[in-house]
Amino acid sequence: MNERVNILGVEVDAVTMAQAVKKIESLIAEKKSSIVATANAEMLMMSTHDEELKKILNSAALVVPDGAGTVWAAHHLGFDMPERVAGADLVQEIMKIAPSKDIKIFLFGSAPGVADKAKLKAEELYPGIKIVGTRNGYFSADDEAEILAQIKNSRADVLLAALGVPKQEKWLFAHKDELKIPVSIGVGGTLDVMAGVVKRAPLWMQKAKLEWLYRAMLQPSRAGRLTALPKFVLKVHASKK
Ligand code: UDP
Repeated sequence: MNERVNILGVEVDAVTMAQAVKKIESLIAEKKSSIVATANAEMLMMSTHDEELKKILNSAALVVPDGAGTVWAAHHLGFDMPERVAGADLVQEIMKIAPSKDIKIFLFGSAPGVADKAKLKAEELYPGIKIVGTRNGYFSADDEAEILAQIKNSRADVLLAALGVPKQEKWLFAHKDELKIPVSIGVGGTLDVMAGVVKRAPLWMQKAKLEWLYRAMLQPSRAGRLTALPKFVLKVHASKK
């Protein structure tokens, strides 16, 4: 087993992308309703004042270091953290092996139509992939039973939930025993990116660790969230012994 690094009270797995994918394959084989989380700086900051989210993350089967901030924090605290494992990239890696390993995937979340577009994109990129269901992420409590039945009956191996943080983590945790899906992953804006609704930063910006800046420029409504980053840096530094 790999090391886990405690960042602001959350145990993050020090894994490479390849190790994360292998771990997910073994969780699928175990069939135990496992939750996988992708922890970026914003999520780790949120968990410092959201005990429920922190508990869910610490009970997850795998927490990957999503984002330059998480990798920086581990290094700053003196631990190894091999590389960034971005949620959007992890989803692509899972989809890439899905046809040959017969991994069935359900896409849940985002605005109406987005998951269907992401399904078409996945089918174009990964011929033979089985996207066994889609459902948008805007629903009321009355719709919940029907959504649960739809996901359960799809017999998916992997449920990708794009409801935003922390809604997706809390929803997956609350329903995991009922759903009995081997692996559920909160994937934030990934379906939007796949559907082409939101673009990812150009590669040079990703490499320069500036993806957060690009997202804020593109969606100014997100800019307010950027204040979490300097706060995260200060908090991690303060937690250093
Ligand atoms: N979303 C949803 N239901 C909600 C709230 C949000 O399906 O009740 C979707 C939203 O349309 C978007 C995703 O959740 O596709 C959240 O994306 P964001 O980039 O904000 O992800 P985060 O930064 O929270 O990971």
